[in-house]
Amino acid sequence: MFLCAILGCMDSEDKLQLLGTYDASYDVEGRPRTVRRPPLGQKNGPGGIFYADVSGGRCVPLLRVLMTNVCENDCRYCAINCHRQIRRTSFQPEELARTFMEMWQRRLVTGLFLSSGVAGGAAKTAERMLTTVEILRQRERFSGYIHLKLMPGQPADYIERAVALADRVSVNLEAATAEHLARIAPRKSYGLLLPPMEEVRRLQQRYPGQLRAGQITQLVVGAAGESDQQIMETSQGLYDRLAMRRVYYSAYQPVCGEELAPPVPPLRQHRLYQADWLLRFYGFRFPELPFEPGGSLPRDVDPKAAWALLHPERFPLEVNRATYDELLRVPGIGPVSARRILQLRSAHAFGDLKELARLGVAVKRACQFVLLDGRYLGDRRLLAQPRAVGDPFDGLRAGLDPVQLSLWSDNVQALAPAVA
Ligand code: SF4
Repeated sequence: MFLCAILGCMDSEDKLQLLGTYDASYDVEGRPRTVRRPPLGQKNGPGGIFYADVSGGRCVPLLRVLMTNVCENDCRYCAINCHRQIRRTSFQPEELARTFMEMWQRRLVTGLFLSSGVAGGAAKTAERMLTTVEILRQRERFSGYIHLKLMPGQPADYIERAVALADRVSVNLEAATAEHLARIAPRKSYGLLLPPMEEVRRLQQRYPGQLRAGQITQLVVGAAGESDQQIMETSQGLYDRLAMRRVYYSAYQPVCGEELAPPVPPLRQHRLYQADWLLRFYGFRFPELPFEPGGSLPRDVDPKAAWALLHPERFPLEVNRATYDELLRVPGIGPVSARRILQLRSAHAFGDLKELARLGVAVKRACQFVLLDGRYLGDRRLLAQPRAVGDPFDGLRAGLDPVQLSLWSDNVQALAPAVA
């Protein structure tokens, strides 16, 4: 391979182009909304700049870069695994810290997401990453956002250093079960990946002020034949046991020379994010999620509407009397609009869909499931149609008129930002 021969022969800008524009199919924090073109009027910066949505609706540029794209592992979904014939190079800690600070001083980036291939073992790789971040924090006094990838197998005291330095850390769990992981990443195991995640959780409990953006992880979807049901069960466990800030889902796309499965359609990833949103913000638990026979989330209807259609006994719901938790279960009503309804209805009974629309309610969806001062403005056929868990939803969709089809439109809020 000619690739190793060029190690050390590139300048920092060349390295940045290579290590900052790597195929990040296994590192998707913020995708799809956060990887985007620079804002209008701003020139393209060097490689590695990704735009990430953060709290408050802001969009900030991060340098997302690898310490090295040399890797001794053979994860079969990964574009830089040890079998790939690609150009390889590495940053030294001083070099990467200097490159980042130059970009930060030129206001090209406001934060860093540092990941890496595994070169020379987990401890050696982690040491170089930690040294980079220590230079930034301790010598350069950089206090902005840093997301640091942990190397499974690195010593526990390295994890403590990482948690003290970074705003966010992550280990990618990659697959929904240990068996599925073995199929796509032969040198990884749950026994290797879970302990550092558990150690992070212990450190969070011991030092509550640290790691303000929490711990995240990622699952590759569809490479190992796992079902949506298995994926969401794992996600629920991660949220419950490890207080994971967020689980990301990366739809599998074959990399050159390795086709584990057909490419996964974006809709499957989208439905998983919607179901994940239900777990995190809508008070749903995994057993409540609606799965079809075989364990798929419905593709023709979003999971919240699917759940509502399976529970006609809960609807229609009187908006002027429902609790916050009940309102959250109504398709078209989210946490913000539910809170606004509660705030305003003490002074005023809602009787008009336009009033709900002004509060941010998606009324074409919600009207099928609510009463407004005793009046039902939806189509009674929808809730009258008996349904059972596992019924396909196609028949329902076909039975609706064009106006009601809007009920099935995707809930775009399900992809709302959550980075830092
Ligand atoms: S450890 Fe696996 S996923 Fe990470 S860079 Fe190496 S081959 Fe890719």
